[in-house]
Amino acid sequence: MTDFDVIVIGSGMGGLSCAGLLAKAGKSVLLLEAHDRPGGYAHGFKRKRYQFDSGVHLISGCGPQGYQGGQVIYKLLQALNLLDEIEFIKVNPFSRCLYPGLETELPQTIERFVEHLAGLFPSQREGLEKLTRLCQQIAEEVTLADEMMSGLSHAAAQKLMPALFEYRKATLADVAEKFIQDPKLLGLFASNWPYLGLPPSKVSFVYWSTMLIGYMVDGSYYCKGGFQQLANTLVEGLEKNAGQVRFKSPVDRITLYDGKVSGVIVNGKTITAPVVVSNADFRQTVNQLVGRQYFSDRYLQRMEKMQPSLSIFVVYIATDLDLAAFGLEHESFCYSGFDHDASYEKTCQGDISWLSITVPTLLDASLAPEGQHLMMLTTLLPFAAERPWKQLKADIMQKMITLAAQTVPGLEEHLLFVEGGSPATMQRYTQNFHGAAYGWDVSPDQVGPLRMQNKSPLPGLYFAGHWASPGGGVYGVCVSGVKTAQTVLGIRRQSELWQSLCSK
Ligand SMILES: Cc1cc2nc3c(=O)[nH]c(=O)nc-3n(C[C@H](O)[C@H](O)[C@H](O)COP(=O)(O)OP(=O)(O)OC[C@H]3O[C@@H](n4cnc5c(N)ncnc54)[C@H](O)[C@@H]3O)c2cc1C
Repeated sequence: MTDFDVIVIGSGMGGLSCAGLLAKAGKSVLLLEAHDRPGGYAHGFKRKRYQFDSGVHLISGCGPQGYQGGQVIYKLLQALNLLDEIEFIKVNPFSRCLYPGLETELPQTIERFVEHLAGLFPSQREGLEKLTRLCQQIAEEVTLADEMMSGLSHAAAQKLMPALFEYRKATLADVAEKFIQDPKLLGLFASNWPYLGLPPSKVSFVYWSTMLIGYMVDGSYYCKGGFQQLANTLVEGLEKNAGQVRFKSPVDRITLYDGKVSGVIVNGKTITAPVVVSNADFRQTVNQLVGRQYFSDRYLQRMEKMQPSLSIFVVYIATDLDLAAFGLEHESFCYSGFDHDASYEKTCQGDISWLSITVPTLLDASLAPEGQHLMMLTTLLPFAAERPWKQLKADIMQKMITLAAQTVPGLEEHLLFVEGGSPATMQRYTQNFHGAAYGWDVSPDQVGPLRMQNKSPLPGLYFAGHWASPGGGVYGVCVSGVKTAQTVLGIRRQSELWQSLCSK
């Protein structure tokens, strides 16, 4: 007899998804979270009368319709009977993009997206349409692969998913440059690159396609009240299915018996379970929670070779400026040029040359008092362990505010509240290595079968979240939670999981 069937370490969106589904399937589940609230990077915090999102601004997959095989967050909420408990606000256009000499938006649906961008670059219409359709084909083949792969021969899989096989090793730049010649359109097409933390020459085309088609076809959503509401709702779903959650419970060790996982040690107490799902940092799980001696050299070498993603710096602002009057959308990307690889190189040097401006109060005025807006300024940044973040913070915040003031003149004179979140802050609140925003980078050699898999070689140990498969971003980690739940339950096809849970 053990205390629980499954213990999940961490209440990021990957851990929450997995825990809820396992509880609904009838497992007794305990979720242990180090912080005082759920959500990981999707958690929110309150200052004065302002409700901020710490990280997440926008997600996809929350509606009932979209591309074939998508809509995973909708299916998750449906399986847990939570659809009525949460309100999503549609975000269309999903981005506004500001470049020197070009300001435009990225609208939803493939037809409108192509029509709008082709209107700006008429000579590129055919290539643009083919590229966007190829992205959709890839996104649909990825979900087909998740559904079918384990039961198919290599030859049969290749026949069924030709684009996935052809482009599995390609970067976005490799493919986009075949279809589009104009460097400005190439830049515009790749405007959302910060969502994956890698520029066009480095990001996996397959992962890019699932992200872009998610926002463009499945739809883009903000969560009314902030993303903390989504995390709280998933906790509710877990508890309704007899699962338990304990906050302020940092797991110190994963215990083993006879070479298998036997439970965890938390706050000095041992709790037993034959299955532990780690939503925590991958290397922390292997090196500290379990111990390297329990893994093969080959596994450890693979893990050491994996590259973590960059972190993020955020400036959280409240202002009494009327931000709607500046033509901003929920999320606007401000770039000083069209070459995102050059921007990425600057970012890696710690040079702040671009940012995104998020104004959630344009969609949900309840987050701030009347007549005021919230603004999050976001840029990627490496952790650089030697950096004294406390000293640097004020300087970086000032640089980002000055940069944002190019788009929002007068901002500096209308700051009612300002706080900074550095890579060290990201690490402190989630224990992700160096505040990595997306787990391992989603480069072609770190996605699909080449990513660290959700079932570890140690019996009873699983992973869910952005260090596992498929990868980072809220949609990705929810898919990862679904995949891990499926593996623990021994259910081969995702459709079977939804059928069995929705009928309960
Ligand atoms: C600033 C920022 C903005 C972002 N914006 C977006 C966005 O707009 N849209 C989007 O899709 N993605 C966004 N992302 C990426 C996305 O937030 C992440 O990829 C995703 O949320 C990670 O989820 P996860 O399940 O892997 O868990 P995480 O969010 O990494 O959370 C892990 C949890 O585990 C807990 N934990 C860790 N160790 C232990 C332990 N030993 N014991 C107990 N608990 C432990 C932590 O406290 C934490 O709550 C953003 C990321 C950042 C940093």
